Amino acid sequence: MSRSNEFDLIEHFFKKPTKRVDVNLGIGDDCAVLRPFPGLDLVVTTDTLVEGRHFLSDTDPKDIGYKSVAVSLSDIAAMGAQPSWLLLSLTMPDVITSWLEGFTQGMFACLDEHQIDLVGGNLSKGPLSITTQLIGQSDPGCILTRSGALSQDYIFVTGPIGDCGLAIKLLTDQIEDKFTPVERDALTHRLWHPIPRIKEGRLLQQVATAAIDISDGLVADLKHILEQSQVGATLYTRDLPISGQLKKISEPSAILLALTAGDDYELCFTVSPNNLPELQKLASEQDCSFFCIGKINEQQTLTIVGPDNKPMTLENEGFKHF
Ligand code: ADP
Ligand code: MG
Repeated sequence: MSRSNEFDLIEHFFKKPTKRVDVNLGIGDDCAVLRPFPGLDLVVTTDTLVEGRHFLSDTDPKDIGYKSVAVSLSDIAAMGAQPSWLLLSLTMPDVITSWLEGFTQGMFACLDEHQIDLVGGNLSKGPLSITTQLIGQSDPGCILTRSGALSQDYIFVTGPIGDCGLAIKLLTDQIEDKFTPVERDALTHRLWHPIPRIKEGRLLQQVATAAIDISDGLVADLKHILEQSQVGATLYTRDLPISGQLKKISEPSAILLALTAGDDYELCFTVSPNNLPELQKLASEQDCSFFCIGKINEQQTLTIVGPDNKPMTLENEGFKHF
């Protein structure tokens, strides 16, 4: 076992067969699905943001508060569920009232946008670290998982990808700054205020075969769908939705960020050819955008067709947690 891979660690140390009949879906998807009684699926997820790892010490606490809820909401969106309740565990070195005011302002702004209540949590002294647990609900049996993709399904994303990777490169001076202040603000805003695609996820429960949210990078996260659905895919880089800002850097760098950078929190999902008209109908009725970027096949590999129409290979496929 490779001790450096998050997924090997989970598989080896944590993933055990569940014993309870009310665990409908355990470890391995964006959320666990619990069915306490036949009429309801509860959907649960947790995430941690750590200072120095997920944000720098000079990050606006409002942004940290907003994002710490938004990332968990994104996992609920990937299952197509409706978010309801939040628990918050906060570890901090000292009590700094102004920081707490900013943090809670950002957090409650995100909670209010989605009609979620904070119902509990924990406070402790220690390095700054924020753990959110979100619980959502769904009609039974409608949950979107990573394992339902079928050969011939089309692959979609809900919005432009790569912008948050670009924002991180800009904030850490890893890329030449060719951007106007308005463009830079837009990129930074995207990084700290990801839009959890709850509305899209709800709609996709009716038409999609599989879904995941893009937290670690398109290729890395699509591969979870491919592995768990036991299928392969072809992705076309010419069809990737790339924002005006991302288009300002060189084409190869823009494509690389769109394929491998994390933090965008768009959904990646698959739809059977028969359901495409229904997808289009629902998207226009509910004012949602979807971009087709490829197709599922029967092979067990992912082929990425580059801008020159030839298959391309990647050195790093996405964010590594360890
Ligand atoms: P996501 O990126 O959607 O949050 P991951 O791909 O990181 O999910 O995690 C894969 C699965 O492993 C998820 O079902 C998650 O709940 C589970 N998981 C991660 N860490 C642990 C852990 N320490 N114990 C049990 N399950 C875990
Ligand atoms: Mg996820």
